[in-house]
Amino acid sequence: MYRTHTCGELRIENAGQQTTLAGWVQRVRNLGAMTFIDLRDRYGITQLVIDDKASAELKAAANELGREFVVQVKGTVRERESKNSKMTTGDIEIQVAEISVLSPSDVPPFTIQNDTDGGDELRMKYRYLDLRREAVRENLVLRSKMAIIVRNYLDSLNFIETETPVLIKSTPEGARDFVVPSRMNPGEFYALPQSPQQLKQLLMVAGFDRYYQIVKCFRDEDLRADRQPEFTQIDCEMAFVEQNDVLNTFEGLTRHLFREVKGFDPGEFHRMPFAEAMEKYGSDKPDIRFGMTFNDITALAQGKDFPVFNSAEYIVAICAEGCAEYTRKQLDALTEYMKRQQIGAKGLVYVKYGADGSLKSSVDKFYDETDLKKWADACGAKPGDLLLILSGEKAKTQIQMGALRLEMARQLNLMDKNVFCPLWVVDFPLLEWDEDTSRWHAMHHPFTSPKPEDIAMLDTEPGKVRANAYDLVINGVEIGGGSVRIFDSGLQAKMFGLLGFTPEQAQYQFGFLMNAFKYGAPPHAGIAFGFDRLVSMFAGLDSIRDVIAFPKNNTGRDVMMDAPSTIANEQLDELNLKVEIKEVKK
Ligand code: ASP
Repeated sequence: MYRTHTCGELRIENAGQQTTLAGWVQRVRNLGAMTFIDLRDRYGITQLVIDDKASAELKAAANELGREFVVQVKGTVRERESKNSKMTTGDIEIQVAEISVLSPSDVPPFTIQNDTDGGDELRMKYRYLDLRREAVRENLVLRSKMAIIVRNYLDSLNFIETETPVLIKSTPEGARDFVVPSRMNPGEFYALPQSPQQLKQLLMVAGFDRYYQIVKCFRDEDLRADRQPEFTQIDCEMAFVEQNDVLNTFEGLTRHLFREVKGFDPGEFHRMPFAEAMEKYGSDKPDIRFGMTFNDITALAQGKDFPVFNSAEYIVAICAEGCAEYTRKQLDALTEYMKRQQIGAKGLVYVKYGADGSLKSSVDKFYDETDLKKWADACGAKPGDLLLILSGEKAKTQIQMGALRLEMARQLNLMDKNVFCPLWVVDFPLLEWDEDTSRWHAMHHPFTSPKPEDIAMLDTEPGKVRANAYDLVINGVEIGGGSVRIFDSGLQAKMFGLLGFTPEQAQYQFGFLMNAFKYGAPPHAGIAFGFDRLVSMFAGLDSIRDVIAFPKNNTGRDVMMDAPSTIANEQLDELNLKVEIKEVKK
């Protein structure tokens, strides 16, 4: 037996007992007469002591130990003289009788404790060492716990967990596919699923009725902090349901997770149409932990001599409470922030509503206090507040103002990590126009159903057609999304046509789905949650990397395994591939 107890288990009640522990040496403190060793495993740390009464052999063995050696010790549990209330095992220590090294260790490249000295890249390279740190491990423990809660909850609602294949035909979800060459079918490729979308719909045709899977999805996209080329979804589909049934079921799941993991219920989720989200927050994933909503002041601000406003399609203001004292420097910095390429605003107008009731603006040349007061009233501003105003083409200006609203919330500390405000955004547009390709794209995916009352507009004004599509947003983060599906092969064919597929192309790429719809497809709808994001939000982290055991870095590399990598010529030959690197971009 390697151990009788774990390193997190022994308490004062165990004093006097014989014990065998095994674990990693966290620290050795040699105080001359006595040597203390902190022994660690995933359950905790236990202090070992080798005192002056110990045999010379034992003392010598202790002296040989280095950090991260794996050892087994036998000894007696005893009460500590100086207790450590910060450790669960802090009342006791082990008087060591025997120590054996199971595996020595090189000096680790960084210290394995919560406040480590290791930089990001180094910790990624030695991820298995990083995972020994409690702070990192705890995130994965939370992940495991949440996966079990999800499984139990969905199981209790009769969902069937079904695995779908990883080697499939391309499923367009708006990203690039990762592809795998087929040895047995020269010149042909599998794609890794961007999601099991079509497969789960086929399970509905198969009569499975309620499907779920905690499943890896693959998207070859440019990476950001909250993106990984492979990520995990809680993927679900239900038959004989309407949008409301899906929302209620997954609101139930989310609230259950909050109760089980966080110990509170966030209450019923708000629901907001996409159009309202854009009108009030300039975002399809509004953070509603704070207000600062948009006020359209176009009518109020036009008609004076300010040409910028007069020629604008839209003029919008937000009210930053208590910010009238912002200095010139702060306002210039905000203007610069808004002019950055990523945001692209042309300028920023402000009105300071002084505590004394005075109104001063950056456009005083064109507007007097009476005009400015009207704007302030429209925004519900009070003395001491600051109005920030943008103008221009409506859709673009909304998005820019959305970015400014978030920046102000950061400056004003309005984003409390311990507050959770879940929100369903519903009624997304079915299509969005892509300037680059001059084509309609499915905003969610091509299998999403238009709202029945909007179907007539498909031929006349496709851009106005709304979809039965929804997103779950928590604190400005998109946690999940889904839709009611098209289940009629005729409507599906029409949709592919709108998206620019010829009937032949649609048949080649999606024939299997359209055929399946000919054999009795039930009405169905579904959703997928980004599991990594959900866990990282519950853990209070900013990046999903921290909740993934072996994540990739921001160029999509696994720096620990050093993947991707080249493969041997024989392997390429077998695959009938010849690799020609056109240009190596670094
Ligand atoms: N397949 C979709 C996605 O990955 C989710 C869904 O529509 O169920 O976003």
